[in-house]
Amino acid sequence: MRADQLATVTLDGEVVEGNLGPESTEIIAMHSTVYATRPDVAAIIHTHSPAATAFALAHQPLPCRAEPLLRFGQAKPVPVVAWGPRGSEVSVRSIASVLAEHPTTNAVLLANHGLLAFAVVSGR
Ligand SMILES: [Zn+2]
Repeated sequence: MRADQLATVTLDGEVVEGNLGPESTEIIAMHSTVYATRPDVAAIIHTHSPAATAFALAHQPLPCRAEPLLRFGQAKPVPVVAWGPRGSEVSVRSIASVLAEHPTTNAVLLANHGLLAFAVVSGR
């Protein structure tokens, strides 16, 4: 990723700096709902990592069996958000619902899609 591919946006999706193409604009709410639900989250990464996406395609929570998950505070399985079209209201509502059910998770699998992983800052 290059610096010219980055943009600063408000939680409502208004571009403050930089440029976003339509393919990026449609996923802003997917990120902003995490920030709105979890004030302790300082950063979010969305990825289509093949390993994580395999669990998302299978609609299976990612079990906490790898030491790095524990080191980064993920003591419980990474939950799966039910499928909804990318960036849709259904998808965003489902993300918020799973976060409400799993208030300490540091990631969610997006069914048939990929992963959202969060960096949490303690004391926020
Ligand atoms: Zn994606």
